[in-house]
Amino acid sequence: MKIAVMAGDGIGTEITAEAVKVLKVLGLGMEMEEALVGGAAYDAHGHPLPEATLNLAKTSDAILFGAVGDWKYDKLERQFRPEQAILGLRKHLGLFANFRPAICYEQLTHASSLKPELVSGLDILIMRELTGDIYFGQPRGRRTATDGLFPGAEEGFDTMRYTRPEIIRIGRVAFEAARKRNRHVTSVDKSNVLETSQLWRDTMVELGKEYPDVTLEHMYIDNAAMQLVKEPKKFDVVVTGNMFGDILSDEASMLTGSIGMLPSASLNDKKQGLYEPSHGSAPDIAGKGVANPLATILSAAMMLRYSLDQAEAADRIEAAVKKVLAQGLRTPDIYSVGTTRVGTREMGDAVVKALG
Ligand code: NAD
Repeated sequence: MKIAVMAGDGIGTEITAEAVKVLKVLGLGMEMEEALVGGAAYDAHGHPLPEATLNLAKTSDAILFGAVGDWKYDKLERQFRPEQAILGLRKHLGLFANFRPAICYEQLTHASSLKPELVSGLDILIMRELTGDIYFGQPRGRRTATDGLFPGAEEGFDTMRYTRPEIIRIGRVAFEAARKRNRHVTSVDKSNVLETSQLWRDTMVELGKEYPDVTLEHMYIDNAAMQLVKEPKKFDVVVTGNMFGDILSDEASMLTGSIGMLPSASLNDKKQGLYEPSHGSAPDIAGKGVANPLATILSAAMMLRYSLDQAEAADRIEAAVKKVLAQGLRTPDIYSVGTTRVGTREMGDAVVKALG
């Protein structure tokens, strides 16, 4: 098992160190190699995703990724910005399936902006297609309008597109994931308005026939956004395209209250994956030793489960995280009166200890 460790920028280095610590204690004999990425790589090599980093990613079974970005790079040309590293890795490795679990831990129900009874026990998985849709569709650009309401005016345009094989491939991942959970898939589209979505829905209906043991439901994106805050627990696996998934996964993450708790995974068809917390590099708290490392530690658990076939070790990490929360340990982002405030390193140490 070869893991590429890419800590990145800001709190990325602090939180990744804790996840690596946890992985090492498991004693699974993994080979771990570090590489610069994002702003750190730009500073050292003039590019956010240097050739050596990309090669390491390609030859590894999985990438444990911290976070990239800092406001100081905002004035760089787009191709040199730290965030381009993630897009580059997704593209070069073909990471089309983005898993974003939103789990509300019992001890943290108060942190959600929803009523505790709505989120207590919440465990949903948002599955977002990551390499297609309007974000990548051509043609796109700016031009002078020749028709429409304002001919002669400047207009911007993008193209939403999906091919049937792209829909089938993400659909399969969703159905397979549902089989390991509560066997319920909600496919989200806008087929009442969009041709792309109609193809999405038709394809999902066809594919659903291969999974008679999984219940397939369809929902329009606007309704899904509403139902996620009205009755989130009625979802199990939600599968959708790139743009709708971008929005729904952030909405779902907020149901749990803390962005510092949410892992994510992006996989290709060879089960190679990039595992990272859902949050960014948090430059406002970088270097202060207060960042919550649990999202990254839980991302490492997902890496063990989905890319390395080490489900038992993944279970151990997840159980250890629940245990430290039950012990009342909290980084500042999840702190509440009556609990014990700890820093990044102490939280990592506590998880290691809780592994038993
Ligand atoms: P952010 O997620 O970095 O931070 C948002 C807020 O959440 C901040 O107040 C931060 O302190 C807090 N926060 C985030 N993670 C935390 C943690 N583990 N523990 C405690 N608090 C935490 O988003 P932002 O401020 O909009 O972006 C900062 C930089 O991160 C930008 O350069 C952005 O482009 C980049 N970014 C990177 C990724 C990524 O690497 N995948 C994702 C999102 C944003």
